[in-house]
Amino acid sequence: MEGCIFCKIVQGDIPCFKIYEDDKVLAFEDINPIAEGHTLIIPKRHAQDLWEIPAEDLTAIHLASQKIIRAIKKALKPTGVALLQLNGRGVNQVVMHYHLHLMPRMSESPQLPVTDWGLKEGDMEAIKETARKIASAIE
Ligand code: 5GP
Ligand code: ZN
Repeated sequence: MEGCIFCKIVQGDIPCFKIYEDDKVLAFEDINPIAEGHTLIIPKRHAQDLWEIPAEDLTAIHLASQKIIRAIKKALKPTGVALLQLNGRGVNQVVMHYHLHLMPRMSESPQLPVTDWGLKEGDMEAIKETARKIASAIE
């Protein structure tokens, strides 16, 4: 898509530190890493978010995530790896081309902010009502 930075990376117009590619996906290092080994997996075909991405590209990304997380485990020996995928400006999606973040954490590093939000007990009636709303909207 015109003006999309990740489409430019797919086309080779902007360089990247490539980890993996196949006919549907490309994986490369994030240039503003939250942790060592912070990797992005994107579909080669432009789609903005989880609402838009075709099922076959989504499947390919998640299959690639397993391949890459195994490589991260072998290469970096993290204590864990968080996967994060943002949909919409309201949750700070900055690049409007679907991407899945893989974020390793090493034992000596602090908790990743995205995995450390703390638990606050919810209102069971409100949760039940929200569950009903979402469940009845499933198509
Ligand atoms: P999000 O849209 O999920 O908030 O994050 C976009 C991510 O893309 C950020 O972590 C940012 O560092 C990364 N990013 C933005 N531009 C580039 C780029 O040109 N190359 C690479 N490798 N990563 C980028
Ligand atoms: Zn794009």
